[in-house]
Amino acid sequence: MNSYISRRPIQLAHKILRYYGITNPGQIDLNAICLDKGVLVIEAPLKGALARLVRNGKDRALVRVSDRIREVGQRRFAIAHEFGHFILHKKKNQLSLCHRSELLFWYQEFPLEEQEANAFAVALLMPDFLFEIRGCCESPTMATIERLSTEFKTSLTATTLRYLDFTRHDCAAIFSVDGRIKWFRTSENFPLRLLDMQTLVDADSFAGRLFAGHPYPGVPQQVPVGMWAEDHEFSQSFTIQEDAIYLKTYQTVISLISIQPSSPLYQFLTKRAVSTAW
Ligand SMILES: [Zn+2]
Repeated sequence: MNSYISRRPIQLAHKILRYYGITNPGQIDLNAICLDKGVLVIEAPLKGALARLVRNGKDRALVRVSDRIREVGQRRFAIAHEFGHFILHKKKNQLSLCHRSELLFWYQEFPLEEQEANAFAVALLMPDFLFEIRGCCESPTMATIERLSTEFKTSLTATTLRYLDFTRHDCAAIFSVDGRIKWFRTSENFPLRLLDMQTLVDADSFAGRLFAGHPYPGVPQQVPVGMWAEDHEFSQSFTIQEDAIYLKTYQTVISLISIQPSSPLYQFLTKRAVSTAW
């Protein structure tokens, strides 16, 4: 999500959570909150969209969510996004159709209102005052992401991105589609330069093996840094941790790569940072 949007969507989402006295993720009963605020949510067949907001006067609306969305996390995100339009964009269209890409692929450039609705949805479903304490110190593995995703009832994609907002580890999430790097996001101050978009995923990387149909080995793997980063000074000399998950529905692999604090790479980078600082 782009950083230049205002904090208003986040402030309004937090205000709603405070109003209901929410103190843990299990209390975020989205349909009940929507209903109490005048928005009835129904699941129904929808053509050409994943969700739709239909206003009925100033203070009431209907959100139709496509019955094709099978995953709870994605359904909740779609509802929260439409609810965001209801709260934030009162003077906008009476009828708003939101498409799959607008709801699920944050890396693309969207109109400001779509970005604001996404920011509202993230803040409502994974507010910083609940997420940071649960995510910031947890190890950068897909097991962590899955646990947080279960606790917050959010999709793996959304949870991974939120984890990067708060983690204290040096890590990055790389999204590869059909065997090529599509997009990535890093934690703050991640020290490596990652490979360019559209680079073919290395066949021996964790992601490459998942694309080739190999089963998930159950634990993160150590892979050469050069599989994911461009720094030739050391990319063949050190390893980096990669964990990954294959989202079959989207032919997408999410790789979570991280620099372990005890690793030779971490020590090398620390020494290099000290020497260049002087
Ligand atoms: Zn929208």
